[in-house]
Amino acid sequence: MEMNNDSLKKQIYLSPTHMGDLELAYVSDAINSSQRVPQGANVEAFEQELKSFTGRKHALALESGTAAIHLALLLLDVQPGDFVICQSNTHVAAANPIRYLHANPVFVDSESDTWNICPDALELALKDNKYNQRIKAIIVVHLYGMPAKMDAILTIAEKYGVPVVEDAAEAMGSALGDRKCGSMGHLSILSFNGNKIITTGGGGALLTNNEELIAKARTLASQANDLMPLVEAGQVGYNYGMSDILAGIGVGQMKVLQQRIAQRRANYDFYYNLLSSYQGISFLPEPPGHFSNRWLTAILVDPAKTNGVTHNDIRLSMEQENIEARLLWKPMHLQPVFNDFSFFGGNIAAGIFEKGLCLPSGSNLTNDDKERISSVLKRALDVHSQ
Ligand SMILES: *Cc1c(COP(=O)(O)O)cnc(C)c1O
Repeated sequence: MEMNNDSLKKQIYLSPTHMGDLELAYVSDAINSSQRVPQGANVEAFEQELKSFTGRKHALALESGTAAIHLALLLLDVQPGDFVICQSNTHVAAANPIRYLHANPVFVDSESDTWNICPDALELALKDNKYNQRIKAIIVVHLYGMPAKMDAILTIAEKYGVPVVEDAAEAMGSALGDRKCGSMGHLSILSFNGNKIITTGGGGALLTNNEELIAKARTLASQANDLMPLVEAGQVGYNYGMSDILAGIGVGQMKVLQQRIAQRRANYDFYYNLLSSYQGISFLPEPPGHFSNRWLTAILVDPAKTNGVTHNDIRLSMEQENIEARLLWKPMHLQPVFNDFSFFGGNIAAGIFEKGLCLPSGSNLTNDDKERISSVLKRALDVHSQ
């Protein structure tokens, strides 16, 4: 775009793709080597990296995180008419695959310490005998990078004999103690979409310790043509595998993951130092033992304490300066497309949504960007709070 107007400022995005020369070297290597080495060398290397990083026995690189959730539900034998519990406070990608299978989502509220699924409300859903043993899975999300209360969740899941699908799409590098997000579900998923903490341009992964499940997933992800040399389809398959070129980017991105986590966490500190002294602005601190990659920094804005300034007022002030902030994902039980499905819990997720704002959180935010952001935020809050 032509910058013919001095007042037209560079756009600051919420969570832009951050790639550099290192990834470029892997991509060109992948392109150059595609005719020399067996197909899939980068995929294999990337899967190896994912296993050693998360401590999981098996990893399958896929074309998206959504595909990974779809496969996880297929592996857990989710059939039309079955029920799948899903955290309501999430990105819609976590819930859509339930409908791909014509199963019914049962949405569950959040708790305020992590904004993730509330163990008590989860148990209410599992206890409700309306579902008559047809709850096939529980999808737990580590929203914006904050780990959910997995110990409580896994204990309850075990009590009712329902497997947990851990959606760690936003939480690569987050952890509970020394357990990485992506290592705790019966099946776990990651995303490498362009806006995530590391990216392959588009991609995902399925992780598990169960050898039989990963073998099935590998078959399903490659059109289920597993009877080579006679290509015979015994079941319906998908074309969900990650391309070798994209896996090359993934290998490069793994080398900068720790750096990206440090940069995202520094963004959180920047916003905390800037805003925590303002009445009515609150942050999500890490509960003891929780380590968040701080993929996105989100604040809650309470207009009763900011003299009427709302989360959306702040968003609009930023938009005027070409700075992207975003309202939180709207909870699934409030989405028109999921109107007909059940919800267990209270108003925690809805309350967070009503006040929440995600601030620009790219790992490539510059000091100049931060200065611009800082002056808009201060102006938005100071002007109104006189
Ligand atoms: C991004 C995301 C997904 C889906 O990942 P894609 O790779 O974009 O398909 C799933 N769940 C959550 C919580 C996400 O943020």
